[in-house]
Amino acid sequence: MTPVKISELETKLFINNEFVDAISGKTFPTINPATEEVICEVQEAGAEDVDKAVAAATAAFQLGSPWRSMAASERGKLIWKLADLMEQHSEYLEELESLDNGKPLGRQGQYGTKVDVALTIAIYRYAAGWCDKITGDVIPVDGNTLCYTRKEPVGVCGCIIPWNFPLAMQSWKLAPALAAGCTVVMKTSEKTPLSALFVSKLIAQAGFPPGVVNTLSGYGPGTGEAIVKHPGIDKIAFTGSTLTATNILKNAGLKRTTMELGGKSPVIVCNDADLDVAVEMCHVGLFLNQGQCCCAGSRVFVQDTIYDAFVKKAATKAQAMKIGAYTEADADHGPQVDDIQFKRVMGYIEKGKSEGAMCVVGGSRHGSKGYFVEPTIFTNVSDDMTIAKEEIFGPVMAVMKFSTDEEVVIRANSTMYGLGAGIMSKNISRALGLANQIRAGSVWINSYDDFSVQAPFGGYKASGHGREKGKEMLDNYLETKCVFVPL
Ligand code: NAD
Repeated sequence: MTPVKISELETKLFINNEFVDAISGKTFPTINPATEEVICEVQEAGAEDVDKAVAAATAAFQLGSPWRSMAASERGKLIWKLADLMEQHSEYLEELESLDNGKPLGRQGQYGTKVDVALTIAIYRYAAGWCDKITGDVIPVDGNTLCYTRKEPVGVCGCIIPWNFPLAMQSWKLAPALAAGCTVVMKTSEKTPLSALFVSKLIAQAGFPPGVVNTLSGYGPGTGEAIVKHPGIDKIAFTGSTLTATNILKNAGLKRTTMELGGKSPVIVCNDADLDVAVEMCHVGLFLNQGQCCCAGSRVFVQDTIYDAFVKKAATKAQAMKIGAYTEADADHGPQVDDIQFKRVMGYIEKGKSEGAMCVVGGSRHGSKGYFVEPTIFTNVSDDMTIAKEEIFGPVMAVMKFSTDEEVVIRANSTMYGLGAGIMSKNISRALGLANQIRAGSVWINSYDDFSVQAPFGGYKASGHGREKGKEMLDNYLETKCVFVPL
């Protein structure tokens, strides 16, 4: 473990490659969710700070600036250098992320910040490789005319990210925006500002020109809204809740937007599934990251003939989880990120009980300090119960019974969301047939939560628009210009 020294943490705003004091003069505390103690005070960006960051990003985007004049392959080298620096500091980043967010480190092969940091480094490298491969087309238009398209960076991007995977969420926006040649003003979540500030230090070290990346800490209604409404911003890239997205879309005017939002993802466990694989995948699909995952498989539909056997195995597995702070070497289930999320999840658990679902495992707070919620499984859940309809964003699995494939497809699709889905079956024709009928951006067959950097991720319906990761991620940060030349 690389101990984090609190006195050495970056807590100022990162503008023009420097850590500067907020003009607002305001600060807010960031809390260790395992102990409920304040880690440190972080500076909060106000409207004037946002102006300053947008001015820096605008200057860095001017034609003729070092960034705009840089060869695409050189941009790629800078992004690769950033990935190398992150790798050199990976243990520190794991520790810092776990301290601020609460998630376990993930030793002994379990999920945790080790996985997050590795995936984050991978996406910067993947994006670095794209810089000099962004091409337009030659269009065979009618007449004696040469017509071709150029892909150009969209401009100054306002990126707003959540707290559940702070480093990964920063990278899913920053890596493609930089590969496309944009400049960025990023607001991190007020719940987890620390790791993005450390990465900002590495951005300056890597040698990015000043103003290309600017990182602001602050709250949504203050800092976030000032970014969304700012006339100097060309594009808003947002990840967060569907409710906040609706608000942002109202405020963004005619700016370009991409939205990565919430979910209520179904997992269909067919009677011909390998039961052990199905239990493992449903377990990972829901409990990964304390259930704080946008594509959490929170509605588990199990075919009637294997329902009881599934519930028994799933409950045993959930009960065996070791709950604890990231400082406990063998912990594989940490606290919820803060008091607000803790109360929200506990509220849903109470709602499940009061609406008649049966809590077969968990259902309570763990310990008396820290925001720990026991891994919880409800059975006897019906589609109209609150826990089957609303995004809980916590370790609460709702298990439901189904009889036929026709029935389960209708029920699985009966949600405003469309982010992820799982299908467990050894019959590949059946699984592929079901996959085609599910309206979701990612479908995992006999697996769950495969987050390969090469594969696009995003939502149907109220789960958002646009795709992150994969080559589609570049589209979020590019304009298409069409040039006509009569010959
Ligand atoms: P949130 O919507 O509360 O906040 C997200 C970000 O938006 C934060 O930085 C917040 O400060 C900011 N914000 C809040 N109000 C704002 C406003 N009025 N204007 C501008 N910015 C504002 O979401 P959260 O609690 O941080 O994250 C959880 C949500 O994110 C869940 O719904 C989850 O499903 C979703 N999520 C989606 C993905 C995905 O890729 N689809 C990934 C991770 C999380």
